[in-house]
Amino acid sequence: MNTKGKKIIRLNANENFYGCSVKVRSALRTRLRDLSLYPDPPVKLEKALAKKLNVKEENIVVGGGSVRLIDGLIQSMMDQEDELIFFERSFVAYGQLAAVHHRKVKIAPLTQFCCKLQNIEPLLNEKTRLIFIANPNNPTGTIISHQELRSFLEGLPSRVLVVLDEAYGEYVVDPSFPDSLKLQAEFPNLIVLRTFSKIYGLAGLRIGYGIMHHEHAFPLSRNRIPFFFNSLSETAALIALEDQTYVHRCRKRNAVEREKMYHLFRHAGLNVMASQGNFLFLYFRSEEEKDEWYLRFTAEGLNICDLKVFGQDRSLRIGVGDRSVLQALKKIIRAADINLRSERK
Ligand code: PMP
Repeated sequence: MNTKGKKIIRLNANENFYGCSVKVRSALRTRLRDLSLYPDPPVKLEKALAKKLNVKEENIVVGGGSVRLIDGLIQSMMDQEDELIFFERSFVAYGQLAAVHHRKVKIAPLTQFCCKLQNIEPLLNEKTRLIFIANPNNPTGTIISHQELRSFLEGLPSRVLVVLDEAYGEYVVDPSFPDSLKLQAEFPNLIVLRTFSKIYGLAGLRIGYGIMHHEHAFPLSRNRIPFFFNSLSETAALIALEDQTYVHRCRKRNAVEREKMYHLFRHAGLNVMASQGNFLFLYFRSEEEKDEWYLRFTAEGLNICDLKVFGQDRSLRIGVGDRSVLQALKKIIRAADINLRSERK
């Protein structure tokens, strides 16, 4: 409950609002008696992923959440003098983990809140080693298309590794979204990261994976700490991967709710980006205006993300929810409208 007695609805961390598959929950119950045993390495999961994605097992690296793989890539692929590039207003962990490893970072600007790959080009030099691209981007929700990515990769030297972070990839319905594994077959310097934290609804269990050329997979897996992966995570991931019906259902439901939320915000005159993720990005003319809206949302129990925590002082990010969220939003917008009209009088 918040201070006004409203039930708090969590829309601030891009989790799956609809939870995880019930099949995963019941499978986890059966593993509880084995908690005293050390886990096996995630070989079964790597096998299952390889089969599902039609790649070799040597191309898969499982990690404790994709942040662990981001960390591992910075650690194992970059030398002291190498540089890392990513977009401004992208996933904060890229910069945080580069700082942990004292690696040099260059930030590419957005164009009207979109990640335009040509904005990376002026930052490239002989020291560039890694480029992180979140697709869809968090927090703006926009995507880079297959064609854009392909042209970019064509012009890039093969020593530069492009890490395509597809944490929200399963939510995308736009057909121009890259077929990243097809591109990887053509461009071995493309590394793809995915996670069970988002559409699979397993953020608490920390399971991510990367698909990459063996030349990159080998140092990355070698760098992992022993027993980094636990037995509950493996069971959950194996069952979740099998339950693609649940994934399809979440994608469909999210797309429907996202569309409704987007139009509601547009109709209310708010600046909102069209998103392919499970969240929407709102931007305001001033920090004061953003603060007012933030208070309106939280007073109604909607716990949303004030992007000021990530150094963006005029924007908010709100997770896609269900009918109850939509109703709360309608109420907030109606009340704000009445307020604004009376202020104008
Ligand atoms: N990439 C992006 C773009 C994200 O937004 C997040 C989590 N918010 C992650 C990766 C990390 O996911 P995981 O839980 O797999 O570490």
